[in-house]
Amino acid sequence: MSLESQNVLSAYDWLRKLYHHLLRFTKDGKEGYHYLKERGMDDETIEAFQLGFAPNAQDFIAEFLAKKGFQQQLLVKAGIISELDNNRVTDRFRGRVIFPIRNHIGKTVAFGGRSITDEQPKYLNSPESELFQKGKLLYNFDLAKKHIRKQNEVVLFEGYMDVISAYQAGVKNVVATLGTSLTEPQAKLLNRYVDTVVICYDGDKAGQAATYKAANLLRSVGCAIKVANLDEDMDPDSFIKKHGSEAFMNQVIKASDTYMSFYMRYLQKDYNLNLEGDRISYIENILKELAMIESPIEREYYLNELSEAHQISIETLSAEMQGYRHKQE
Ligand code: ATP
Ligand code: MN
Ligand code: MN
Ligand code: MN
Repeated sequence: MSLESQNVLSAYDWLRKLYHHLLRFTKDGKEGYHYLKERGMDDETIEAFQLGFAPNAQDFIAEFLAKKGFQQQLLVKAGIISELDNNRVTDRFRGRVIFPIRNHIGKTVAFGGRSITDEQPKYLNSPESELFQKGKLLYNFDLAKKHIRKQNEVVLFEGYMDVISAYQAGVKNVVATLGTSLTEPQAKLLNRYVDTVVICYDGDKAGQAATYKAANLLRSVGCAIKVANLDEDMDPDSFIKKHGSEAFMNQVIKASDTYMSFYMRYLQKDYNLNLEGDRISYIENILKELAMIESPIEREYYLNELSEAHQISIETLSAEMQGYRHKQE
């Protein structure tokens, strides 16, 4: 690691401690603390994730780190402060709740800052660097690793809040991408640790489209997947808040769908199954997807389901699907 990166790590470590201290113990951090309390976080969770608060001040952090001997240029490059004209500087995070982003060995390599007012953007992250590459990092992988191994399963979320809520609810084999689509390095990393990935993205349209993409990427690297089914207006964090930990465990995680069930549900949104033409192309689409499934038991299971749902004989469906199977070879 370059000397510069080592210095940035050290600055981030000071900052993590400072932000956290401000949130927990000072007047400057009170609004951040109240915000997290409002969202249902207890002190133990705030501690475990080292959550903090960046006060709404122009150059509080710049001064703090300057006193510790950090060079201004380094801090600018690390995205901790920005230069304004006439030699003034300004802190990147102001009036935001801070989520330290840890790498896979637990070192803080970036921060996420959530605005606690209507100020946009809602989330602001540190810039990417030698230390922090969003597409290679999974949030909370360091804490989740032993739980992931033990359970041979990992739950994948969209955001930090989902991870933290689930963790507090006792579901600890949890990680998140940081507001970007799942990448191949992330999928491969998961595949090295587990057989099964439960994708638990937001219930909205964007979340479901991202689920489809992540599901196929994970399958292509060899993971088995399951898909949680949340209502359109829910994300994992809001579900836990509304229905509690046990419901999350039993009605969401344990009740998650197979890929095919997800796909059938996902696809239905594009079709009006009351129209004959739509219904036929829907069924053909499902059969194409089924043709790619290796397990004959699984194929038969869904053929049965389709047959019953649409009153078409299993022989007809099976023949059509076999046609698609040959086309792939
Ligand atoms: P909250 O519950 O606090 O509103 P969320 O996790 O539900 O947060 P989403 O809007 O679902 O927020 O976004 C999921 C993730 O995407 C966030 O955790 C964050 O990492 C990332 N993200 C969201 N908005 C932005 C943004 N404007 N810039 C960068 N990252 C973002
Ligand atoms: Mn979302
Ligand atoms: Mn969300
Ligand atoms: Mn949310």
